[in-house]
Amino acid sequence: MTELTQEQIEGRKKEIADAKEVQESLLESNKKLVNEFGAGVLKDIIDQCPNFYTFQRGLIYTHRDFDQYMQAIKKRKKVAIVSGVNASGKLHIGHKIVFDTNLYFQKEYDIPVFIPISDDESYVAGKVKTQEEGLKNSLILAKELLAYGFDPHKTFFIIDQIFTNVYNFAIKLSRGTTMSALRAVYGYNMEDNCGLFFYPAVQSAHILMPQLKEHGGHDHVLVPIGPDEDAHIRIGRDLAPKFGLVKPAILHAFFIPGLKGGKMSTTDPGSAIFLEDDPKTAKAKIMKAKTGGRETADLQKKYGADFEICMVYKYLELFYLRKDEILDLQRQCKGGGILCGECKKRLASHVEEDLKDFQERLEKVKDETVQHCILRNV
Ligand code: SF4
Repeated sequence: MTELTQEQIEGRKKEIADAKEVQESLLESNKKLVNEFGAGVLKDIIDQCPNFYTFQRGLIYTHRDFDQYMQAIKKRKKVAIVSGVNASGKLHIGHKIVFDTNLYFQKEYDIPVFIPISDDESYVAGKVKTQEEGLKNSLILAKELLAYGFDPHKTFFIIDQIFTNVYNFAIKLSRGTTMSALRAVYGYNMEDNCGLFFYPAVQSAHILMPQLKEHGGHDHVLVPIGPDEDAHIRIGRDLAPKFGLVKPAILHAFFIPGLKGGKMSTTDPGSAIFLEDDPKTAKAKIMKAKTGGRETADLQKKYGADFEICMVYKYLELFYLRKDEILDLQRQCKGGGILCGECKKRLASHVEEDLKDFQERLEKVKDETVQHCILRNV
């Protein structure tokens, strides 16, 4: 039977240390929000959180005022969710934590979801070349979101090129903040175009709008986001009381690592599974994912593998396996009772099924339904 060389043992130690460092760094943004910017740790209020996997598996790490939002639900107050997407981006598995959480609230508590698709920000930030491209992408994303499962009767897309009334509210809010405050958050410089400077007022309009009488007069709004977006939403939170509105609550999901073990990136297609990937492409990406496996099957059977640094395990654990199945996989992996190829096929079959279902639903979403869900000027 093959033995490990000293070099292999040292190499392995380094690989494990590096992988753990990457995973820790993905949580760094959330920790910084707690240590430097006053966010709360979700686990401290876990008894008030829903019995849903994104809460119970620790996928949402930090929050602002989420306990108050849950109280508002219990008191049967009128509540809403605002959850935006970028008009230059594609939907990928990294969005799953936020979207599944939004869907849970929509289904469980009948909560309306407002989805700003930032066609104008994508344009002023140069993420799309033309306004037409921003609008076209927005309509594609709206269709995909309906296919994802959002209820067309309780979902409202905010596409600013269509719902231009939003700018009127943004103008009102713009009196409540200053260029210095915006520069401190966004780091813009004087050479940046002025559209970028105005967009934070527009984004604040998106998140505060559901509280206006003409948009339902909701008492409380929840904004589930990635930790990197907190500073932007803080501008809207600071503005709220100046205009007699309630500060929106925030949930911060944590960054899911990419398939290659680093950050998930839309510019590195191999690191992410996109909802538009055909199932075969997704499977091919998974088969190349980073694992904690050994160099050979013999070594793995003898010394076991390391699920702690394995992305295939991570995705199975986060999204697909029950608690007992997770423990069983951990045991088998450590004990050398399973090879990485089997796990990859297991994950691929879950993902392939999800993508197939999503793409079948996408075929069925009608353009009229998308149009029906877009907020319009009245
Ligand atoms: Fe990951 Fe499975 Fe390989 Fe263990 S056996 S490292 S869980 S792919």
